[in-house]
Amino acid sequence: MLNKTIFVVEDESDIQELIRYNLMKDRYLVECFENAESMIQRLNTKVPDAILLDIMLPGIDGLEACRRLRAGGPGEQVPVIMLTAKGEEADVVTGLELGADDYMVKPFSPRVLLARLKAVVRRRRVEETIAQKPLETQGITMHPGRHEVTIDGQQVVLTASEFAALYMLAGKAGWVFTRYQIVEEVHGPNYPVTDRSVDVMIAGLRKKMGSKGDLIETVRGIGYKFKGESDE
Ligand code: CA
Repeated sequence: MLNKTIFVVEDESDIQELIRYNLMKDRYLVECFENAESMIQRLNTKVPDAILLDIMLPGIDGLEACRRLRAGGPGEQVPVIMLTAKGEEADVVTGLELGADDYMVKPFSPRVLLARLKAVVRRRRVEETIAQKPLETQGITMHPGRHEVTIDGQQVVLTASEFAALYMLAGKAGWVFTRYQIVEEVHGPNYPVTDRSVDVMIAGLRKKMGSKGDLIETVRGIGYKFKGESDE
């Protein structure tokens, strides 16, 4: 299993070092930041498994940073633990309302911090699994957790890209998706692929789907859609 990456935003260097030391001892990969702006910037290139976020920071404070994270963008789903000083209880409430997952009051025991960190990372993973619910439509069943697809009862082997594309299209039957949206779903944003390579991927997917392949319709000049209507 890959080591988890944790971002630590803390302007007090001794506390930053204490956290870094203890997390690294527990085999986490750690990146430290002295202000929230540089951490938010870094999210464009790396999304961590959790963020430890001090409230009192130079520049924008931890609460504002939390609000910006939850407003959208690459850090939206990342678990956040707020670090607060004694007497900042009102800030803790605000932080939790803004979408922080937990908080620690300084000074804290590194062991307690590690336990809470483990808990938020695990909780988020369970939520992600639940969000990826099985799909059943027009003779096609998809189980994202097991990466399984059956078409008319027959198992079909799809690549990860094909699976993600079919799951998105079939999950919103009748909706038209652009090639860019498909790429974003399959590879994440800003992934350099051509429209042509999307068409090739969809062609391969249709072929594997056999007689159900024509459920994926080409929408001229736009992209693709799955035949039928979804409830949403
Ligand atoms: Ca501070």
